Amino acid sequence: MPNANFTGKTVLITGGSAGIGLGIAAAFAAAGANVAITGRNQARLGSAAAALGGNILALAGDTASRPSAIALCEATAQKFGGLDILCANAGINPVSPLDEMTESEWDEVLAVNAKGSFLAVQAALPYLRKSGAGRVILTSSITGPVTAIPGLSHYGASKAAQLGFMRAAAVELAKDGITVNAVLPGVIETEALAALGDAFIASSRALIPVGRLGLVADIANAVLFFASPESSFITGQPLIVDGGQTLPEAPG
Ligand code: NAP
Repeated sequence: MPNANFTGKTVLITGGSAGIGLGIAAAFAAAGANVAITGRNQARLGSAAAALGGNILALAGDTASRPSAIALCEATAQKFGGLDILCANAGINPVSPLDEMTESEWDEVLAVNAKGSFLAVQAALPYLRKSGAGRVILTSSITGPVTAIPGLSHYGASKAAQLGFMRAAAVELAKDGITVNAVLPGVIETEALAALGDAFIASSRALIPVGRLGLVADIANAVLFFASPESSFITGQPLIVDGGQTLPEAPG
């Protein structure tokens, strides 16, 4: 979105200290928004804020904790005078085959990825209502809603859960002028992707019709569209951003 202008708007991005979230933060900062980013690791937050420059609020917090979600929204609104756009983006993808998966591994992934979206949206609601044109954008995935990766059954369930949550939230919040949409990334170059290994990355690249992995900017562009005034009649919608990976019916 090269001409996007979010001057005067405030955005909070969970998991904004790395990867896709950092890319979203950079795009909003370049478009003039006030930007707040979160993550658990303070050092990583500090270097992300330094890289972003400008008027950035970097806040440590755990997306799976209700008190933390409330504190993050409060601090953002206090510094910038409100909160207009929430990007519920923080997520984890630890690999664990079904035979070996522990209950606590399942619970952690669902807590961060799915419950975290709910907690962030609920905590942001008073501010989004006040904004008059609130926007929620969830970072889901093609994995779960559309495709599957062995060892990520908990992750797939959490990413599909985000979409069920999105649809009900979109209906509930429409009367407040708040839209709730989701971006479903394909294979995007990040640290989290690197953790899945070179073989996975190479075979994924071979499956992508446009012939390259996704960049964080590809996801940020879709997020900025959902955050823009031009998308005000779109709510409850998943947008796949995957270079065509989910399209082929046969190897070609
Ligand atoms: P990443 O590079 O590992 O970054 C994840 C971010 O989330 C970091 O800022 C991390 O900071 C933060 N985070 C993780 N757990 C957190 C917690 N409990 N509380 C607060 N912050 C937390 O991952 P990514 O690839 O950018 O993924 C971002 C989102 O995109 C996730 O929802 C992921 O499922 C989704 N996605 C990614 C891909 C891909 O190919 N990369 C594809 C589809 C979907 P700390 O570790 O310091 O907390």
